[in-house]
Amino acid sequence: MAPHFEIPKTQQAAIVESTDAPLKIVRDHPVRQPSELKPGECLVRLECSGVCHTDLHARNGDWPQAAKLPLIGGHEGVGHVVAVGAHTQGSPVKVGDRVGIKWLAYSCLDCEQCRKGIEQSCPNQQLSGFTTDGTFSQYVVSWVSHVTPIPASLDSFEAASVLCAGITVYRALKYSQTHIGDWVALPGAGGGLGHLAIQYAVAMGLRVVAIDTGAEKRELCLKLGAERWVDFRESQDLVADIVAATDGQGPHAAVVTAATGAAYAQAVDYLRPGGALMVVGLPAHAALSADIFFTVTKSISIFGSYVGNRQDAREALEIAARGKVKCYYVRKPLSALAETYEGLAKGTVVGRVVLDMQSE
Ligand SMILES: [Zn+2]
Ligand SMILES: [Zn+2]
Repeated sequence: MAPHFEIPKTQQAAIVESTDAPLKIVRDHPVRQPSELKPGECLVRLECSGVCHTDLHARNGDWPQAAKLPLIGGHEGVGHVVAVGAHTQGSPVKVGDRVGIKWLAYSCLDCEQCRKGIEQSCPNQQLSGFTTDGTFSQYVVSWVSHVTPIPASLDSFEAASVLCAGITVYRALKYSQTHIGDWVALPGAGGGLGHLAIQYAVAMGLRVVAIDTGAEKRELCLKLGAERWVDFRESQDLVADIVAATDGQGPHAAVVTAATGAAYAQAVDYLRPGGALMVVGLPAHAALSADIFFTVTKSISIFGSYVGNRQDAREALEIAARGKVKCYYVRKPLSALAETYEGLAKGTVVGRVVLDMQSE
């Protein structure tokens, strides 16, 4: 018999009413009841949710595409399925399963992009914490086709940040056309995405040149397996230092997750001929201005890499479950969300913040 869950009528949730209103934490937000779920939907009781820079962009209305309002943000949630909509056919998950809620909440699975495995670019998609309410609440409604089963050996708080930050950097590395022993440059290596990228890169047999600043981040990067460190504040010539650190020829790939535009253009200058620039970060109001002459004559490839599909998600979680990737996070209550946004805006968050959704 399927386990039974008591489902309350109301819950704690963090609500954005408009892009300029302060974030509101309420205790009486309605919980969608099992009888109200459509076929294909499920209700998940959340244990925790990571906080991503994207949540801040969504909250501030930074992008060309606007989020729904009012909005519950969040897209790195882990919890248990407590109900599945009546008449759901062939669900890959059942009541009681532990699952992850990621940025891509739904895709049609039948358009050209979905059929080719880039469901992240499906025109019929739903995005958690953007077009549909996300995980900064105790209960979330999502789609059975896109919630991700969490491997049993992986702790929920560890899994949370893999669901967005981990999948994103894992896929970018996977498609970077690198091979075992190649060098990869990771600007922002000490941050939320970067520190996971170091570990995935090392697990893939790549050699890492970490680019960031400060003693605390340097120590973390080297501890996680980066072989070279370049401090962008201390460096007089960043491009020359990165080339010198990678056998004098430059890295074979750069996975750029930075929240500013300059880091993207620099990569074209320091990459080895034939190298790949993986464009991953989504800085607000930024354009990529690569030097065309050197992009052509160095045979540089530029790829946009956007989160990951369902297979990328499974792979990224499996690697973490095998202990190859550990997230450095601080556990906080939902009420700490506003101060976490302030920290992200100032760039003072080392590693990741994961909110405990069941603590008061
Ligand atoms: Zn994210
Ligand atoms: Zn589609």
